[in-house]
Amino acid sequence: MPDLSAIKKSLTARLEELQTSTEATAESRKPVELDQAAVGRLSRMDALQVQAMAQATERHREQEIARIKAALDRIEADEFGYCIVCGEEIAPKRLEIDPTVPTCIVCASGK
Ligand SMILES: [Zn+2]
Repeated sequence: MPDLSAIKKSLTARLEELQTSTEATAESRKPVELDQAAVGRLSRMDALQVQAMAQATERHREQEIARIKAALDRIEADEFGYCIVCGEEIAPKRLEIDPTVPTCIVCASGK
């Protein structure tokens, strides 16, 4: 049986870290200023690129946040370590690599 309190602790820490960076980077995802006089055409393209990257990063972050929250819910519900599809135990090695995995290897591979 995995050490649930240790997993919970590390997941909570990671969640806080992610939420902090979401707040810290909120500014970079705001719509790019369209004022052509203030910024040249090239730097505006740069700004758009930076913004697109920031938005992609944020999407990944939101997905990870959702996975961590779901994993924490499963710990609370005493369902952690069991596949959400078939209910079988998830291999400890698999959980070691990523404690947020919701399914066993069989269900994850779609077989
Ligand atoms: Zn399964």
